Amino acid sequence: MERKGEKSRIHPVGNMKDANITVYRMSPGCDLGDVEVGKTYIGRVQGFANFGTFVQLNERVKGLVHKSNVRTHHREKDSILVRVLNIRSNGNIDLEEVTIPVYTVEMVERKSTAVRLSELAGKVGKTVRIEGEIAQIKQTSGPTIFTIVDESGTENAAAFVEAGVRAYPEAECGDLVRIVGEVMMRQNQLQIEVEDLTILAGEDAETVRERIEKAIDLRSEPPEVPLLIDSPVLEKLRPRMREVAKIIRKAVFTSQPIILRHHADADGICAGVAVELAVISLMREAGADFDADYFLFKRAPSKAPFYEIEDIIRDLDFATKDNVRYGQKMPLVILMDNGSTEEDLPSMKLAQVYGIPMVVIDHHHPDAIVDQYLVGHVNPYHVGGDFGITAGMLGTEVARLISPGVEATIRHLPAVAGVGDRSEAPERAKYLALVRETYTEQDCKDIALALDYLQFWLRFNDGREIVKDVLNLAGDFERHRRLVAHQVEGANLAIQDQLSACMPHVRHETLPNGAELFLIDVEIHAHKFTFPPPGKTSGEVHDRLCQQYSGSPVVTIGFGPDFAVLRSRGVMMNIPQMVRELREEIPGGGISGGGHLVVGSIKFVEGMRDEVLRGLIAKISLVRTGLPA
Ligand code: MN
Repeated sequence: MERKGEKSRIHPVGNMKDANITVYRMSPGCDLGDVEVGKTYIGRVQGFANFGTFVQLNERVKGLVHKSNVRTHHREKDSILVRVLNIRSNGNIDLEEVTIPVYTVEMVERKSTAVRLSELAGKVGKTVRIEGEIAQIKQTSGPTIFTIVDESGTENAAAFVEAGVRAYPEAECGDLVRIVGEVMMRQNQLQIEVEDLTILAGEDAETVRERIEKAIDLRSEPPEVPLLIDSPVLEKLRPRMREVAKIIRKAVFTSQPIILRHHADADGICAGVAVELAVISLMREAGADFDADYFLFKRAPSKAPFYEIEDIIRDLDFATKDNVRYGQKMPLVILMDNGSTEEDLPSMKLAQVYGIPMVVIDHHHPDAIVDQYLVGHVNPYHVGGDFGITAGMLGTEVARLISPGVEATIRHLPAVAGVGDRSEAPERAKYLALVRETYTEQDCKDIALALDYLQFWLRFNDGREIVKDVLNLAGDFERHRRLVAHQVEGANLAIQDQLSACMPHVRHETLPNGAELFLIDVEIHAHKFTFPPPGKTSGEVHDRLCQQYSGSPVVTIGFGPDFAVLRSRGVMMNIPQMVRELREEIPGGGISGGGHLVVGSIKFVEGMRDEVLRGLIAKISLVRTGLPA
């Protein structure tokens, strides 16, 4: 691509006639083909021989001033003006020194005939030359499809030797290549039919790589978008959100697959869906294939509030197969509404074995140890905030930095996430106010409940399209309204049914610190394998008891044979810390768990349940209580 040189004037004073003399400076990318006979260049003295002076026009082009054409005295590295007399067939350049007191300098850029991928749409039917990096190689039953990335975008190049046979088998993912071929339209997609493919090596490859990397880095810089709401904590998180948005944008621009894992509740779904929409919109913008949102992006809910070994092994299984079968890069993993705690470490260590970069967007109380495994981490606790700023709020703000165009579609997701996670932060009210015209607080609560109910039945599936209907992202408002009403009715009936079965079995005691403690055995006094599951059942029981004991601190423990779920109000607990202490104090308890500070869960071995529960209650009895004013 030929660019016009930028003119800059040296020696601005003096005679305008002289100033019209132009001398040229060769930019670093230029080579012999860019040198023109008769033109004057600014060079640098490289060395001397008895027959003349060697002059460099840039790092890679040099010529000779024969001693008969030397006009002044020089030392090595001096600047010198030279006119090109002749370029010999062997590539040697004959120069002549000239002296011009006043002149204008013009940069010479590399005359590459390479066309940028973003310009291909205007070149259908023409033969072009492109330079870029191979991001993926897919063997079809016909041609071999090379996905090429350059500084401006990404397109496919199809090479054919014989049906189903790999063309250019020496070309690998990550290679820098120069391709000559005709631009065609195939199924409404631009494609280059490869006539020639050269793998670039050495300096050529470095020059192209540098050019692409620099341009992609610049292009990945997120746009300057103000926050949706006024929030000092979110404001302080902006630099970290920009960092993570940049990493995600870069993954899209380099055709790196993305796996987004999120907690399988309303908050986690809102967070994941906001980023999903932004990523897919950016993929389209960057010219990715029409089906790229299926093979380059995967959103998957995780049952646990952390990245379980089971989840990452499933993800690795797919990623390594895609890597071998389709030549895909290893993925970027995004963890949302999970990923901040020690419990994520085993998975993070495994990701490291495969060189998989991970970013976390979470509002669980973070353990500093995870950060050494992450390339980015957004968490309100890092800047003095807390879990009241939920993952769905963070995810929506990050999504706007990835692709600002999605804002109108996802504006209401933070409000749904806030009520879904029972946020008590001031941000909740602000996000609700933002969408008041379209969604009341009750609407948001209904959507959140519908999401929880739907996800329960979806189990490990992402429900990509049906979730869009629940969140009113698919553009069919009537269907959204009816679907939410249906899910809310089903969820409420199931909750009522569950509560009428288990409320009569709730045991009550008042702890020495004034907290009202309620215990419910959800294994034997609640329906199993249906909605609401044990965690939500305990939450619903807790909500009713909080209403009943509105003036008191309340703790509810729902337990099964080998687990307990904790909900609390007005009791300053630190559940992850309690879990750590119990693990030390009760040998053979097999204790693990965590979650938020005041909402969480704990696992243990069945035979130690009574000891563990007694230990837990003893700890809760010591905790400071106090209701928010
Ligand atoms: Mn959450």
